[in-house]
Amino acid sequence: MKTYLTLALSILLLGLVGCSTVSETGRRQLILPSVLQNENQTGLAAFADIKKSEKISTDSKATAQVQRVGNRIKDSVMKSHPMSDAEWEFVLFESDQVNAFALPGGKVGVYTGLLKLVSGDDELAIVIGHEIAHVTSHHGSERASQTSLANVLSQVGSSALGYSELGDTAKKGIMLAYTGAAQGTLLKYSRDHETEADVIGMQFASGAGYNPQAAVTFWKKMAAQSGKGQSSGVSAMIEKWTSTHPPDAERIAKLESLVPKYMPVYEQAKLQYK
Ligand SMILES: [Zn+2]
Repeated sequence: MKTYLTLALSILLLGLVGCSTVSETGRRQLILPSVLQNENQTGLAAFADIKKSEKISTDSKATAQVQRVGNRIKDSVMKSHPMSDAEWEFVLFESDQVNAFALPGGKVGVYTGLLKLVSGDDELAIVIGHEIAHVTSHHGSERASQTSLANVLSQVGSSALGYSELGDTAKKGIMLAYTGAAQGTLLKYSRDHETEADVIGMQFASGAGYNPQAAVTFWKKMAAQSGKGQSSGVSAMIEKWTSTHPPDAERIAKLESLVPKYMPVYEQAKLQYK
């Protein structure tokens, strides 16, 4: 009886922690308050480590581009997400890696390998907007919460409940709750996160006066480059990045369908940067 009660409490707990909502899309998400509270601190510490281990670019023109675009995106983001605790910083790292990232706390990194592939400020804005959208939507915290809960449920299903003492039906029930509630969502969410960051990122970029059509040209370029099968050089670097950001037809079609919605936002916003 005690085992079923604990299992029921665990499932109830899953319901209680799922109280956050992504404001732009209305999607409800499961985030542990303890993970959310430590988000900024974690981001700031991680960025300090990255700055120690990576080489910061000395190219003043390229650095100025990253900071110019980054600061305009920041102003656009802060209209809907004040992020009062953020210590905004945009850093260009000298590396062939095709990569860019944003961390809670307002820390953004772009690698020279990626910068070489963007054709101008509009495409760079799409990349930075996408990365910051992962942060404002707390995607990392959501993923960490899911992992924590999966671990808790795993323990509930085994040692914590005296797993060996349970009958076969009870064991099956617990495993179903565990795999269905935790592992299933882990797989599904990463793709959802990408789509969500694409949509919100385009909103941020357009609001900063950057052309949303750049999302389509950028991802088409990535799609053309990836899957070529070369194992070295730029193609391999693109391959690595696009493995977490698949530039498939579905993604590009979705972005293309969003352009008309954000075109007027872009037209209006760019007036203030003339
Ligand atoms: Zn992403």
